[in-house]
Amino acid sequence: MEKYYIGIDLGGMSAKAGLMDGKGTIHCMDRCKTDPGDPVETTLENLATLAKKLMAEYDITKDNVEAIGIGSPGVIDSGTGTVVHWSNFHWNNVPLAEGLSAKTGLPVFVANDANAAALGEAKFGSGRNYEDSVMLTLGTGIGGGIVLGGKLFEGYRSAGGELGHTVIRRGGIKCTCGRYGCFECYASATALKRDTRNAMERHPESLMWQSVSSLEDVNGRTAFDAARRGDETAKMIVNNFIECLGDGIVNIVNLLRPQVIIIGGGVSNEGDYLLNPVREFVYEHIYAPREYAPLEIVRAQLGNDAGIYGAAAYAMARMLAKTCL
Ligand SMILES: [Zn+2]
Repeated sequence: MEKYYIGIDLGGMSAKAGLMDGKGTIHCMDRCKTDPGDPVETTLENLATLAKKLMAEYDITKDNVEAIGIGSPGVIDSGTGTVVHWSNFHWNNVPLAEGLSAKTGLPVFVANDANAAALGEAKFGSGRNYEDSVMLTLGTGIGGGIVLGGKLFEGYRSAGGELGHTVIRRGGIKCTCGRYGCFECYASATALKRDTRNAMERHPESLMWQSVSSLEDVNGRTAFDAARRGDETAKMIVNNFIECLGDGIVNIVNLLRPQVIIIGGGVSNEGDYLLNPVREFVYEHIYAPREYAPLEIVRAQLGNDAGIYGAAAYAMARMLAKTCL
């Protein structure tokens, strides 16, 4: 009997789920709304309904499903499947795995969402040909995930892998974590937009003003689009962004020396226009040369589905670890 895994990517506005077989093929996907105002019980009920809908859509029962994996925002204790803290939902010590398991009758495993996405890309996306990969998702912050020897590395009580909160500018910009000069203060989409707005204010002649009517309309593409058209101010913003991203990547590479760095998030849609200079910077600055230990820097492939793949892969990995014991 074919066994399946359900992967749920839990977010602040919706939860997306997919039904995956043991080979990594997703057979159907669905989603439901989530709301920060909902009581925990309602969210659990919605997730259980979502899982049951997937089984019904593919005409299988829970006997065909090995486990459910969830990628959740916040600080996660994956050992117990507890959401230790999720500020957006005001969740503290919510036993998510236990709660959903009670409603579905299936084993449930929970990982941090950035970690789940990294595992998804590592197993079924850009990292599938490598054992060791690190994924960086450039968004509001920088989400990071480390996969070593094909396994997700989560650190003690799954509190590790916070690659966005490593300092690249001592005494720099204040981060949401309380430190100054964190990687994500310089190389996230939020940082790029902030730098773009600041430069536009200083340079009213910049071509960047042609693509937006006000500073509120600035997005992660504004500087890149104008830089492609030769705008000097935009090129300066893009170059600075590339060097900050490069510095952060060099730190990670020197520490872990993965075989591949996978870049995700909207900014990665800039493709080689972003990645080629990042590669050049990183290859020039890493400690052990690339001729000795090959290193690739690539775009994420699974897009918004990485979290679903990763959550299902996480459930699979945890079930395999169980049977090996
Ligand atoms: Zn920080």
